[in-house]
Amino acid sequence: MGMPLPMAESANPPSLPAGKRFPIPAVAEADRNEVWVRVQLNAIFKALKSCPDCSGLGTLFETVVFAAGNPQAEIMFVGEAPGLEEEKERKPFVGPDGQKLDQILKAMGLPREQVYLTNVVKFRPKKGDGRFQGPTNRAPQEDEMAASLPYLRAEIEVVRPKVIVAMGRTAAEGLLERGGSLASFRNTEHSFEGIPVIVTCHPSYLLRQESEGDPQQAKAAKRLAWEDMLRVMDRVGMPVAEKQRKYFL
Ligand code: URA
Repeated sequence: MGMPLPMAESANPPSLPAGKRFPIPAVAEADRNEVWVRVQLNAIFKALKSCPDCSGLGTLFETVVFAAGNPQAEIMFVGEAPGLEEEKERKPFVGPDGQKLDQILKAMGLPREQVYLTNVVKFRPKKGDGRFQGPTNRAPQEDEMAASLPYLRAEIEVVRPKVIVAMGRTAAEGLLERGGSLASFRNTEHSFEGIPVIVTCHPSYLLRQESEGDPQQAKAAKRLAWEDMLRVMDRVGMPVAEKQRKYFL
């Protein structure tokens, strides 16, 4: 538990025709153990490495940044795409956004190793031809997310979280395959393959509010994000202390 993913070995996976589901082998409930989950995640990771629909877009770099955390987590956090730091370390959420996410997890009383962290798109999106991109990142486009979604769907099918947290409007659009504002996504109930989805602000938005915004607005944004986390904790039956309920009020 709690080690970077993927871990277990698997046979070479089939490549995935566009728009098709990634084949997850049928298994008896009793055999759906951590090793089985890791083997399936490894197969998805290997398939991504040779995903012609993703890297063939020409808008994404070549390095796969897969997932991290607990392969049997109750809570799955989904971001949009890796940035420079993530690409360098080949792990999601290791840069400044990841540090913000760590603060949120700490406030929830959750070690990072207890949740599952992933992105809609597993490659860093390229700006122009990438030569002058430097440390800047861009949000993934609709076609990039559509090419990646079958792999995320497969991860969700294998991990089977009790709740999915989509971080930011872009992640929500990619996962739910529809457009909308963050406010409209936040105010609506969603599900993906029968699993509840809670949409919240992206950590980068909170960081921007802290560094550039009016302090009152920044506090209000944190409270909104925190209310989403309280709903997440509620969904998985985590106890919420009085002090936690009152954060950012
Ligand atoms: N932002 C994301 O959406 N995902 C990451 O992994 C890092 C930053």
